[in-house]
Amino acid sequence: MSSTDTQTPADALGPATTPALDVRNLVAGWGGVPAVRDLSLHVHPGEVVALLGPNGAGKTTTLLTIAGILRPIDGEIDVLGEPLDGASAHQVARRGAALLPEDRGIFFQLSVAENLRLHRHRRSEVTEADIIGWFPALEQLLDRRAGLLSGGEQQMLALGCKLIADPKLLMVDEMSLGLAPIIVERLLPVVRRIADETGTAVLLVEQHVHAALAITDRAYVLNHGELALSGTADELAQRPEVLEASYLGERTLDQE
Ligand code: ATP
Repeated sequence: MSSTDTQTPADALGPATTPALDVRNLVAGWGGVPAVRDLSLHVHPGEVVALLGPNGAGKTTTLLTIAGILRPIDGEIDVLGEPLDGASAHQVARRGAALLPEDRGIFFQLSVAENLRLHRHRRSEVTEADIIGWFPALEQLLDRRAGLLSGGEQQMLALGCKLIADPKLLMVDEMSLGLAPIIVERLLPVVRRIADETGTAVLLVEQHVHAALAITDRAYVLNHGELALSGTADELAQRPEVLEASYLGERTLDQE
């Protein structure tokens, strides 16, 4: 692990806020077999943090565990200031944590407006107009069945469905799956804008590493279930060879 892992500039400044997500020494996996080992990470309100790594590195396993869908094998997770402590997925969601899964989780038979209505709860301060403000392309599509939307439009709706519940912690698993790079490059800055405008903490799993680093504050790189590298997005973007090597598990910043 790199020397920058333990103290990023954000840490050095000592952010006054409690992290929206604080993961300490997490061991997580399937059927008692670890797929993620000794992972520590945190995300503060308003931060966008990327969780990167090759296929099978353990990124989805990590998100599912934080969301209360998988039980951790060991370690501690605080979600929005409270220990996870065996909370169910429903309880984690009620605290204000939202997970946008790879399959997008929208209802294809329902219209765009119906999907948004279904996801909005009474106490949410986010309205359909806010969602249209972030994703203007949806305005003309409110009456269209979600199944008829393009991949990019479906992803905007999927994000809209999560955002309309006014989450304090948003986890996004491979938003770009199946989307053209140009669509990804348009959607990612909206995620940044949402974090800036609402203070939502965002943990983003993303295969488009450079597009992700362009909008994130910090990133963690997992390799074979272990943290290979972490640092500010600027640091990592300026050293692509180190980032690439950490993907391959060959070296870390320490060994530079
Ligand atoms: P990708 O980028 O391909 O989605 P990932 O980094 O999200 O990969 P995970 O999906 O978390 O990786 O997988 C981590 C490990 O857990 C892999 O070895 C995978 O085979 C295993 N795994 C994932 N899902 C299951 C499952 N449902 N049952 C058993 N093992 C699983």
